Amino acid sequence: MNSVFMYTSKYDTYSLGDQHPFKPYKATMVYELCYRYGLFDKPWITVMEPEPASEDALTEFHSKEYIEALKAANTGSFDFTMLEYGLGTSDNPVFKGVYDFSLLVLGATLKSADLISSGHADIVFSPVGGLHHGGFGHAEGFCYVNDIVIAIQRLLKSGYERILYVDIDAHHGNGVQDAFYDRDDVLFISFHQSGETLYPWVGFENEIGSGKGLGYTVNVPLSEYTDDEAYIKVFKEIYTPLVKAYKPQCVVAQIGLDTLKKDPLTNLRLTNNGYCEVIAEIRASCPKILALGGGGYSVPDVVRGWTLAWAELNGLQPHDPYLGLVGGALTGHGNSVEDLRDSPYKIAPRLKDDVNRYLDSKIIFIKDKIFPIHNISGELYG
Ligand SMILES: [Zn+2]
Repeated sequence: MNSVFMYTSKYDTYSLGDQHPFKPYKATMVYELCYRYGLFDKPWITVMEPEPASEDALTEFHSKEYIEALKAANTGSFDFTMLEYGLGTSDNPVFKGVYDFSLLVLGATLKSADLISSGHADIVFSPVGGLHHGGFGHAEGFCYVNDIVIAIQRLLKSGYERILYVDIDAHHGNGVQDAFYDRDDVLFISFHQSGETLYPWVGFENEIGSGKGLGYTVNVPLSEYTDDEAYIKVFKEIYTPLVKAYKPQCVVAQIGLDTLKKDPLTNLRLTNNGYCEVIAEIRASCPKILALGGGGYSVPDVVRGWTLAWAELNGLQPHDPYLGLVGGALTGHGNSVEDLRDSPYKIAPRLKDDVNRYLDSKIIFIKDKIFPIHNISGELYG
């Protein structure tokens, strides 16, 4: 196995604004924590630096007009015509280097995809990527380019015939869904807080694809307050049978960590324990995994969670080499794995009943409408 952590400190030079929740520098924090815990110290692991993508790469998905608007925004000065393209809103501010940043993020994701399709890597994690809301001709939801759509298109072009896209960000992956809605060579599965209570207000269970893509878009809306136990149950009931039936050649995973109970933008109640169990399921589902960071706005929690995810993807236990050697008043006790893990958390029983009732209705709908399309038989349902 070869695995690659795709990272550059150049991310630190870009800022969407002090008040903006999306912090490109969190990649550096993840890199440093992984380093500290010895999670690059294996012969099969490489840290690689991305190069910016070319403008041509953007045209593989985005409109010419939008690319021109994004390029004009690169100076950091806003003009009102940009609003037409979703640029200059509080979600997608115009900032200095917005175009350069977008090309760098896209470059990272495309290099990651290329490493997989060329056989040079089996697992790649690019923490600043997974911009699943990016539209054909507009920016939205903190996403200026849709690196995921362009990467999946490249993977298909390289010869893959069945790609599974799984999105565990708290928000629905609307930009990716729209791009592949009528296709069966991409199985789209998104678990997200329901559009009844969260942006982008779509991603309902009855959005199941169209034409030959019917049954190849799977939406699992989650109730507010969904905790680890409920999430793991719904994930295993939906994802696991589908992946067994579809037999993807490559899994592209948007592993956003805004599902945590401390996340300021969402209302789910996960801890990184439940998250890691889901990452382990994804890891076990296919030998080729392209993992992209996505959202996550309680930065220290996201950093710990992605460090654990990187360990999980590589089958490693985080280990602090200084543990026990340099303890003290100033340095603390050293860092054990326990310091990365959240305390277990469960919601109150009364809430739990409501959450379970909600999720069960979604599971029944999906098993009824989508599983037969994939010839998933009753015994697999459990
Ligand atoms: Zn999100």
